[in-house]
Amino acid sequence: MSKPVYLITGANRGIGFEITRQLLSSNDADVIAVTRSSKTAGPLKDLIAAANETPEKAATSKTRLLEFDVTNPESIKAAVHELQTSGVSKVDVLINNAGILMNRGSPMSALSNLDFANILDTNVVGPHNVISAFIPMLKVEGSKKIVVNISSGLGSVEMNSGNMTGGYNVSKAALNMLTKQYSQELGSTGLTFVAVDPGWVQTDMGGKHAALKPSESVAAILETISLLKHGDNGSFINRFGKKLPF
Ligand code: NDP
Repeated sequence: MSKPVYLITGANRGIGFEITRQLLSSNDADVIAVTRSSKTAGPLKDLIAAANETPEKAATSKTRLLEFDVTNPESIKAAVHELQTSGVSKVDVLINNAGILMNRGSPMSALSNLDFANILDTNVVGPHNVISAFIPMLKVEGSKKIVVNISSGLGSVEMNSGNMTGGYNVSKAALNMLTKQYSQELGSTGLTFVAVDPGWVQTDMGGKHAALKPSESVAAILETISLLKHGDNGSFINRFGKKLPF
């Protein structure tokens, strides 16, 4: 039986890289690891090469590097076409992980239009661009039909405690609503959409004092994804699968 195909954006570093690493080391999944530039994806290329190391593995594996920028719909469409014409017909689990955090500590009132627009473009419009382009591959018969949007506890309106993260909080609240919107629009077709808070993780974004190692956060996220049911469609959950308030 063929392995489920996971597609992960922002796979060249941080949480996305660790998701790719753990999935490939489990040997239970093929991974389409997305980077916006293969020039900054050295370690990721090594992971992929190791997964496809023997001719036997390479012959059946769908694991590969894919390049697109989530803010560029044309680059995403070209990537979908590249996959479909190279023997990858379906995606089982799409993980919208790419994201940016700018102006940490800056009050909302000091955020420039341009920075705010960039944050929304990457963290909200980006996942929308990716989901809309991949719907046909997610809907293919036999796909697990799962979309995971990597959100943040900072995106919860109810849990907001005045944390100054400029437009980031706003973008993740909007990502949560995007998740809900898609869940309602496409839930009847069998697709399951969830927004997941990974916790505070030691990455370039989370910083070295963060509470969790990428390996801890990602192990919990992958376990939670493996247990998702269609009844979870439209939820905002933490890495352990516990529901969070919008
Ligand atoms: P990093 O900053 O370490 O990595 C971000 C990744 O996103 C990089 O691979 C980056 O690529 C990619 N990316 C950014 N913009 C684009 C774009 N336009 N197109 C394609 N890829 C892009 O962040 P983390 O790994 O920490 O974060 C991953 C996700 O988890 C984010 O959505 C973040 O908001 C969320 N999160 C993280 C937390 C943490 O504590 N770390 C806490 C809560 C949520 P490149 O290398 O090319 O820049």
